[in-house]
Amino acid sequence: MMTRRFLPYALLLLGTLAPGRTVFAQPPEPEQARLKAIITKLADPEFEGRRGEGGQKAAAYIVEQFRTLGLEPLFDGDFYQNIPAREEGKIQGRNVGAILRGSDPELRTQWLIVSAHFDHLGVRDGVLYPGADDNASGVAMMLEIARCFTQGAEKPRRSIMFIGFDLEEIGLFGSRYFAEHSPIPLSRVALFVTADMIGRSLGGGCTEYVFVMGSEHVPSVRPWIEEAASQRPALKVGLLGSDLLLLDRSDYGPFRSRKVPFLFFSTGENPCYHSPRDVPETINYPKAESITRVVFDVCREAARSPEPPRWVAAADNPLAEAVTLRGAMSCLLERREELQIGRTQIVLMTNAIRTLDAIIARGEFTPSERAGILNVARFVLASVL
Ligand SMILES: [Zn+2]
Repeated sequence: MMTRRFLPYALLLLGTLAPGRTVFAQPPEPEQARLKAIITKLADPEFEGRRGEGGQKAAAYIVEQFRTLGLEPLFDGDFYQNIPAREEGKIQGRNVGAILRGSDPELRTQWLIVSAHFDHLGVRDGVLYPGADDNASGVAMMLEIARCFTQGAEKPRRSIMFIGFDLEEIGLFGSRYFAEHSPIPLSRVALFVTADMIGRSLGGGCTEYVFVMGSEHVPSVRPWIEEAASQRPALKVGLLGSDLLLLDRSDYGPFRSRKVPFLFFSTGENPCYHSPRDVPETINYPKAESITRVVFDVCREAARSPEPPRWVAAADNPLAEAVTLRGAMSCLLERREELQIGRTQIVLMTNAIRTLDAIIARGEFTPSERAGILNVARFVLASVL
């Protein structure tokens, strides 16, 4: 019997002996070149900032990708879900969705949703808003994960929906409409995953970070996130409670309010957020690849675990959140000059970091300490970014 130590060398040798042949089946992984191609495509002027007619073109592009992957349509034989306008007989937008059926006769009645909004701000006063990070990056994540699930040797046991939401930018209209008119009862959704802006960094400075919200209501997914993160040491996967954001800032909102287990991935607002400068050249592709791989790993677990993630009504906020808040405030402070952070914010963040150090050393984050720290974080988010 071969020791584990020599196994990699033996496989390497086998690979050398049989050039061009796959020696052992590798599951496909999300790839940055593919993410880049999708982001560059969707940010192109032909999609007119993905609003109005350009939004319709983007929807058609996503449907074309679903078809190429051989996925089934989600909405009663159709890839499109029309979102009616106020005016009788007119539509204001369209969600797009596809299905990959689960392989397990029992678990296939439960669903994993992998989603991202595809709309953006359009063209304003003749200026294109390409929305490369917001949210061509999330759509690329969704399509890459669809490809990997479709092409992988291991078929998901639960069924999966891949959804591109329209009209997020005008108030989560697409995801709200979907949640109200879901083709399946939402009680059968084991996990809803969405990503909104995963190609850059908070304040242009927290380059290692991606933030994940929602695990406070599904603590059983945390080991999956931690395991996936441990495979990518260059990336910091920071857990945060979704109550940090007082308003629902992305498509997780309509699912959170219906107590559907959810995870929301984002690298946060960068200085080019909602500006014409949100272009494909500014995306950090190696980082987007690592994040997509983390999301894919978590999705794989959600698709195969014997028990589905369960919604926990009373938020269970881990100590890891204190570590994330400390890390995010530190990297914002490092960029105090570029971000022109005011004196008050600097004092508040410096004090918060000192408090968080004590909390982390003690190993306990009390609800009242948390409330105080979150208020500082909210004030900073609102006034600095
Ligand atoms: Zn946006």
